[in-house]
Amino acid sequence: MGEMAQKIAKIDSDELIKTLNIALSEEWLAYYQYWIGSLLAKGPHRASIAREFMEHAKEELSHALKLAERIIELGGTPILNPDKWSSTAICHYEEPSNPYTVELLKQNLISERCAIARYEKICEMTFGKDYETHRLSTKILHDEIEHEQEITDFQDDIISEQEHYHSIQTTH
Ligand code: FE
Ligand code: FE
Repeated sequence: MGEMAQKIAKIDSDELIKTLNIALSEEWLAYYQYWIGSLLAKGPHRASIAREFMEHAKEELSHALKLAERIIELGGTPILNPDKWSSTAICHYEEPSNPYTVELLKQNLISERCAIARYEKICEMTFGKDYETHRLSTKILHDEIEHEQEITDFQDDIISEQEHYHSIQTTH
């Protein structure tokens, strides 16, 4: 840890590094969940959902990078073994065993909501104590909230199309 970084830290850095490693593991799992989901997706809005998932995957990977960089700056070690991702993460990896877009959206929504809670917690931990990690966690929180919104927008589109289809069926 840099001398100045150490001086300005007003926080239990072991606890913070541990939490950042949880978040780092979750980002890798989220990356893979979106990446593989994007390739497998079938069903309503397949093409646009696959595109959006690949976009989210890239963003999750960039979150992983920022977290790993921050862990190193704080004098910690980012998780070195991918075997540890699942056991370290608290948000679960949602295996996309059913590639139907409606199912994938549901699974990714669970993960996004868990991620939002993770970054809320890191924001609270660092507020007024570690400005740099706080700035980083608010930025990631912002992205995760956007991801949640994009998923629910797709879900709303699919529901309104189904309602429209049913209304046509019943009037004819
Ligand atoms: Fe993320
Ligand atoms: Fe996300």
